[in-house]
Amino acid sequence: MSQVIKLYIPGPVEVSPDTYAAMAQPMIGHRGKGFQDLYAEIQTKLQTVFGTSQPVYLSTSSAWGVMEGCIRNLVQKKVLNCCNGAFSDKWLDVSRRCGKQAEAYQVEWGQPILAEEIDKRLATGEFDAITFIHNETSTGVLSPIAEIAALKKKYPEVMFITDSVSGFTTVPTAFDELGLDVLLTGSQKAFALPPGLALFTASEAAMKRAESTPDRGYYFDFIEFKANGEKSMTPSTPCISLIYGLRHQLNKMLAEGLPQRYARHAKLNGMVHDWVRRNGFDFFAPEGYRSKSLTCVANNRNIDVAAFIADLKKNHSMIIDGGYGKLKGKTFRVSNMGDESEASIGTVITALDDSLSRCS
Ligand SMILES: *Cc1c(COP(=O)(O)O)cnc(C)c1O
Repeated sequence: MSQVIKLYIPGPVEVSPDTYAAMAQPMIGHRGKGFQDLYAEIQTKLQTVFGTSQPVYLSTSSAWGVMEGCIRNLVQKKVLNCCNGAFSDKWLDVSRRCGKQAEAYQVEWGQPILAEEIDKRLATGEFDAITFIHNETSTGVLSPIAEIAALKKKYPEVMFITDSVSGFTTVPTAFDELGLDVLLTGSQKAFALPPGLALFTASEAAMKRAESTPDRGYYFDFIEFKANGEKSMTPSTPCISLIYGLRHQLNKMLAEGLPQRYARHAKLNGMVHDWVRRNGFDFFAPEGYRSKSLTCVANNRNIDVAAFIADLKKNHSMIIDGGYGKLKGKTFRVSNMGDESEASIGTVITALDDSLSRCS
């Protein structure tokens, strides 16, 4: 299967032909042994990638389903939503829509979430959960996950809920070692699968909290995931084709090796960063807090971003992103997530140079 326009947007990302081929398997019943074997095979691989001995759950939804599920399952008192971009800001809104007490720790878009600021707020004793986004895709900011997770020891009663939708498998996020309560991700970012599947793992404490939380609903009830997972099944009919694709991508990841995979993302990200510097652009994120899976470029040269993107599409059959929400035109983003290689990132860089020569 070939794609006419190649995606360098930070999700959905390009899906490789071998992944599409792996998905094209005959359908099987989701309550039969064939599916249970598939689930069990994937389970151990997912545990390796998540760095956990806890079960990893498959949710047939986009990541937001599980993000909302975290609120519904784990917040009883009040949640602190750490907000520094479009996705993290939205989580505050979602908490309130779920009828929960919620407060924002709001920082300017482009800035990281800092452990000492979380510490100050948790010290009030008001909160029983926090949400935070490891890699804010809208701004290209990578927040210090290890420093934030280390606070869990000081606040064992607080649920540490982490979205690494666009960071997962691009930098280390070993769940058990970090001591988080939930780590969630989605299929269409660094996994380089089509959208429609979210993955998450939860601590024993999180499962315990969920048990005593009322109004969890059904579709995202963590206890349903756990009970079904024990039988190598999902609560409802899952996206079986995507799960075949997931098995394929996990096999590729484990064959590459996780440290090698992280190194590849760092290298490819560095190639895009070199292009940014060479062309006199700035980074939207401060040094030390820049994503390894995408680059959010500040448009300090004031180029016509829409024209630049249109030129790339017309002359190079590829698309990058023109800035998220209020950052439209002020930034543009280039993804290096998933199956990208030195060759494919080299191709986008050549194209960026060519299109920029017509648009600046
Ligand atoms: C893409 C993304 C989401 C939302 O994912 P959906 O699959 O659209 O639900 C959430 N958080 C982050 C950081 C993302 O990059």
